[in-house]
Amino acid sequence: MTNSRVLLPGADVGDGRPVTLGVMGGGQLGRMFVQAAQAMGFATAVLDPDADSPAGLISHHHIRSAYDDPAGLAELARLSDAITTEFENVPAQALATLAAQRPVAPAADCVAIAQDRLTEKAHFVRSASTGGVMPAPHAGIENAAQLAAVPDELLPGILKTARMGYDGKGQVRVKTRTELADAWGQLGQVPCVLEKLMPLRAECSVLVARGADGQCVSYPVQKNTHHDGILAITEVHDNAIDPTLARRAQAATQAIAAQMGYVGVLCVEYFIVDDGQGGLDLVVNEMAPRPHNSGHYTQNACDISQFEAQVRALSGLPLRKPVQHSPALMINLLGDLWFDANGVRAQSSEQPVTPPWAEVLALPGAHLHLYGKRSARHGRKMGHLNITGANIAAVRDSAARALALLGLPALDA
Ligand code: ATP
Ligand code: MG
Repeated sequence: MTNSRVLLPGADVGDGRPVTLGVMGGGQLGRMFVQAAQAMGFATAVLDPDADSPAGLISHHHIRSAYDDPAGLAELARLSDAITTEFENVPAQALATLAAQRPVAPAADCVAIAQDRLTEKAHFVRSASTGGVMPAPHAGIENAAQLAAVPDELLPGILKTARMGYDGKGQVRVKTRTELADAWGQLGQVPCVLEKLMPLRAECSVLVARGADGQCVSYPVQKNTHHDGILAITEVHDNAIDPTLARRAQAATQAIAAQMGYVGVLCVEYFIVDDGQGGLDLVVNEMAPRPHNSGHYTQNACDISQFEAQVRALSGLPLRKPVQHSPALMINLLGDLWFDANGVRAQSSEQPVTPPWAEVLALPGAHLHLYGKRSARHGRKMGHLNITGANIAAVRDSAARALALLGLPALDA
């Protein structure tokens, strides 16, 4: 079902039940969606098997079932007036089942495209003719014949599993055909895509929110720095990205969303590369059919956060173009900090130590967001720190001091 009806927050749906928004998945993105929905007066329902899921802990309803459990899905549909998802690996069939009963956004078809790097890249190529940009040169490897047929110009490259990759997992860098064959074996000979290694100058991402009526609004372009394949820092201010490239990235993201009739919040990641002629070019990397880690700065720096935009798109409420009212920088807070406080590395077997939040929150413009996860682990996303300020110099000054307090690497110049 598509949502032709506007769901008004706080309205009574008839049987004394308040209008309720449902979400598949109870991780941090689901939690921040729930917080935005509740702030506006919606009730919420979360489906996640984990009793301690960050979103389940704070939702009006928490259905503890597997994502493909028919009884759990029926209960989510019964409780919810419209349903969204917070992660792309939700079974597309589960979304299709829900969509037979309730409005679901984004649609199962769109989520299915983003679940597989091969269908995702085919979608990018299709969208390139309507204002999108091309992905890196690549080839699908699903069998030995395709492995043998890989053109030499894709090496050196990165072999990525077609499905289920995140935070740099399921990826191997390869320089030669022998390394490629070994890497494919190491990844279990599952369907993969080999991408040419691109000469990255920077990485950026763009969020858009698109309504059922086709109206689409863009956020400013986010500049992203990764450490060990995981997003570490996002910066958003006027000088972060070349303005011509930024406009192209926003237009490309709108084209990618429109090409699949997308409804909801979509984030598309791009590489900024040398164009070989002394200039810069844009290459599309991948997309997330949901709010994105790189968009967390919107919570404190924009008049409409990416989670509020998700609520508005799902409920059919107006989508206004978001306005960024402050330059911003986001620092991801991984579980490592709990074992590495003040530069003293504890063993993971040791008791975790709470990072020095009081000192961090004494810094001008610091906004702490923790996800309520019960235990810290290395590499686990525990929260993020948004920093806002009157100008980017003030923001970077607070960020530099926060990074030092947390024992994290300093910002690039
Ligand atoms: P996530 O879902 O957390 O964004 P992921 O596991 O899906 O990550 P990618 O975004 O495909 O992985 O790749 C992770 C990082 O590896 C990229 O942000 C980029 O820094 C680097 N990378 C990926 N593909 C290429 C490429 N073709 N050329 C150069 N660098 C690349
Ligand atoms: Mg990525």
